[in-house]
Amino acid sequence: MTNWMVFSRQPDVVLAQYAELKRQVPLLYALLAVSACAVGYTHYALAPAWTTLGFLGALVTVCVWRIACWLAAPAADSIGVGQARTQLVRTTILAGVLGFVFITWSLVIDHYGGPAERGHVALFIAATVIGCIFCLVHLPQAAMLVTAIVTLPYLLYYVLRGDPIFIAMALNIALVTGVMVRVLLNSFQGFTAMIESKSALAAKQDETERLNAENARLAHTDMLTGLPNRRFFFNRLEEALNAARMTRARIVVGVLDLDRFKPVNDTYGHAMGDRLLTEVGRRLMGVASAETLLARLGGDEFGILLTGDVADSQALGQTICDMLAVPFVIDGQRINLGCSAGLAAYPDAGSCVHELFDRSDYALYHVKSSKRGGCALFSIDHETLIRSERAIEAALQAADFEAELSICYQPIMCVLTHSVIGVEALGRWNSPSIGAVPPDRFITTAERLGMIHSLTLALFAKALSEFAQMPEDFRLSFNLSAYDITAPDCLDRVKQLVLTSGVDPARLTFELTETALMRDFNAAVEGITALRALGAQIALDDFGTGYSSLGYLRQLPLDTVKVDGSFTSNIEEASGRTILSAILGLCRTLGLECIVEGVESEMQLAALKGLGYRRAQGYLFARPMPLAACLDWQRAAILPSFSESEVA
Ligand code: C2E
Ligand code: CA
Ligand code: CA
Repeated sequence: MTNWMVFSRQPDVVLAQYAELKRQVPLLYALLAVSACAVGYTHYALAPAWTTLGFLGALVTVCVWRIACWLAAPAADSIGVGQARTQLVRTTILAGVLGFVFITWSLVIDHYGGPAERGHVALFIAATVIGCIFCLVHLPQAAMLVTAIVTLPYLLYYVLRGDPIFIAMALNIALVTGVMVRVLLNSFQGFTAMIESKSALAAKQDETERLNAENARLAHTDMLTGLPNRRFFFNRLEEALNAARMTRARIVVGVLDLDRFKPVNDTYGHAMGDRLLTEVGRRLMGVASAETLLARLGGDEFGILLTGDVADSQALGQTICDMLAVPFVIDGQRINLGCSAGLAAYPDAGSCVHELFDRSDYALYHVKSSKRGGCALFSIDHETLIRSERAIEAALQAADFEAELSICYQPIMCVLTHSVIGVEALGRWNSPSIGAVPPDRFITTAERLGMIHSLTLALFAKALSEFAQMPEDFRLSFNLSAYDITAPDCLDRVKQLVLTSGVDPARLTFELTETALMRDFNAAVEGITALRALGAQIALDDFGTGYSSLGYLRQLPLDTVKVDGSFTSNIEEASGRTILSAILGLCRTLGLECIVEGVESEMQLAALKGLGYRRAQGYLFARPMPLAACLDWQRAAILPSFSESEVA
């Protein structure tokens, strides 16, 4: 018995069976009750009251109670599989019990009445059992149990009674129900197969949805750091902006840029660079929250999107910069990076994604050039600067370099002999539309606009042609931009200009700032090597303002170090003197010439001399001057001079 009582292991099949039974079993009970009442009615006058009224009353009560139970039973989608399975077992048992009770009652009542009543009972049993099989089509165990419990005693009963017509009828019914059970089993098989394929399809669909979600996640994730990527960042920024427009909320957009990442990447290799970025990503993930989205935008640039108070956002920006300034230790190597951040708030700084992002980038650019490691919020001052920068950009793009550019020369002095050893060429631009623009501003603008090479070449050509008029023992120092030194094409043109000018390359020094070298260390070293191969010398400009380490200086093929003017203005303090003295000592050890810049007073000069400096530049001797003024100054100012050896 237990074997065919085993119910499907498939939860979906069990639930589907339950759902079908919930629809059909009440009909089954109604059929039973009505048919039994009809038999009771025809036998009312013939059979004892306990077989009609008494028995029927109890049976109808049971049927009505079961109908009520099924109608009140929970729907298939709100029931557990275990509960549904219990219900199936219970229904099967009850079907067996009721089948037994009904057949017993029918065969008892068959003893009363004439041939018509007996025909009615035989029909009642046959019709009811067929009805049961139909209603229990989704619970074959119950249908088969009822069929067996009803048809076997039915057949046996009529065979024993020996009436051939009833025996034929009973045999016929047994045959029909047998075939019906077979058909029922086939159709139940079809039913389970359908449910199973339905749930397989649903499972497949779930899997497809899961894969789609995973693909979407991967498409939005930066593989190296695990942070959201650029695409995700800009999508979210767009959404946040749309929401902020409706709610009038404030949002803050920011760009984070790692300081010193490039030289580290160049020096230690890309594998180390990748590990550093992964580590940076890990630190940033610790800061991300529901209000703070952090994403990798590319390279060593990260984006931040903050919802909420602007002051809090700025504080968080600074916290992140401080957090990334804590040294990284990878394979026992201690590496100092650092991070600068620029923020822009909606709606103060801009109203669209493009504007906000540009402004945060602008704030970053400014913080990088003034206060590395800091976090700046785009402000009104930045706005004013942007306006004037736009004007510079427009004027520069329309500029006639030949007519508008000129060179001023500032002497570089030997402080022992008080004689000029050379001049530094400093570019000047006088625009007919916006007037004179300081070189650090037009140089950076030209760099940003990608015009720097043609500007450098125009200035250098002028400097070379004017240099022919200077005394033959002068050297010429010329500043190259960070972008020039890493561009082989530009350096080729520089070389061509030198060769066609007739100026001896040995009289030339090219000045480069540390930032120029930091941008792309390897390419810068290649550029330096090419210029030195020409015979020119190389000076490291503004030394001390960047992050040069002593070891770093040793790696570079340099001739001269120019000590930044900020050290000179600090010379009155003991610490300032200590640093100046240390730098000079270092240069001597490395065999490098050392020029100190920004000398403005006799006192500073005396102190520098005291420290051992021999070369200096500054307003004390002369301001940068156009060629003619420079030549006049030279003729008037330095005669007579001593030779260096005499003084020494
Ligand atoms: P730099 O190469 O460090 O040039 C020295 C700057 O310090 C010059 O400013 C000069 O006028 C100024 N200076 C000289 N002596 C003193 C002093 O005693 N006290 C003070 N406070 N300043 C002094 P300038 O001409 O405005 O140039 C600024 C910067 O612009 C330069 O710094 C250089 O980095 C860049 N630059 C100038 N001309 C060119 C150029 O032709 N090409 C490139 N790429 N950069 C240039
Ligand atoms: Ca310089
Ligand atoms: Ca300098």
